Amino acid sequence: MNQTNEIQSAPAAEFISVAIDGPAGAGKSTIARRLAAELGYLYVDTGAIYRTVGYHMKLMGIGARDADGIRRCIDDVNIEISYQDDGLQHMILNGQDVTELIRSPEISMMASGVSAQSCVRDYLLEMQRTLARTHNVIMDGRDIGTVVLPRAQVKIYLTASAEIRAERRYKELLAKGEKLRYEEVYTDVVKRDEQDMNRPIAPLKCAKDAVVVDGSYMTVNQVVAEIKAIIRKKAEAHG
Ligand code: C5P
Repeated sequence: MNQTNEIQSAPAAEFISVAIDGPAGAGKSTIARRLAAELGYLYVDTGAIYRTVGYHMKLMGIGARDADGIRRCIDDVNIEISYQDDGLQHMILNGQDVTELIRSPEISMMASGVSAQSCVRDYLLEMQRTLARTHNVIMDGRDIGTVVLPRAQVKIYLTASAEIRAERRYKELLAKGEKLRYEEVYTDVVKRDEQDMNRPIAPLKCAKDAVVVDGSYMTVNQVVAEIKAIIRKKAEAHG
């Protein structure tokens, strides 16, 4: 697994890591992308990496809970992350750009299923840590502050009520032309949280030293401003 050289490595120094964890649809990607652009950090969407593995397993006809099948296939997965001029984190799976293909509700559930397998998590751990060792990062996911980067200087747990998260997801999917009912989206969001929070390995939980931000009734601008203030405060405290 590797990252393409479009990512500019900064010189060796102490890099800053901002970990943003939280349930599905809390707005992590939108917020993290904005913060990264404003602070000049690298944005790493770790969910996209799990989605890419889920997509590969679907292509191979392997079910999300087929532990043996997933273990057999994981070594065939070659993922590259490419940061292109459109500002998106492009996911390249075995040479194919799958950035758009991994965003469907079906792949959300596949990602949640395969991400519970230890062979998948082990496979992706080093990739995520390498990015943080070589860049200032804003990394979002489920286990960034607890497992991937336990020493991150800033940890945020971004959440919102399940109804509001489902509503946002529903609108996003509608805008993309997906024909779904709100109830289906709500059920998927709740089921995915349940799976992600209750799996034995690297479950979604709030790190002890994370700051909780509930964005239910906040605009994107307000959440960005609040997290920036938290980052600034931490930076001052660290001198
Ligand atoms: O964040 P996103 O919805 O794209 O993540 C898709 C799925 O990938 C999540 O439901 C979760 O199961 C898994 N994931 C994970 N650990 C991460 C990021 C995502 O298990 N750090």
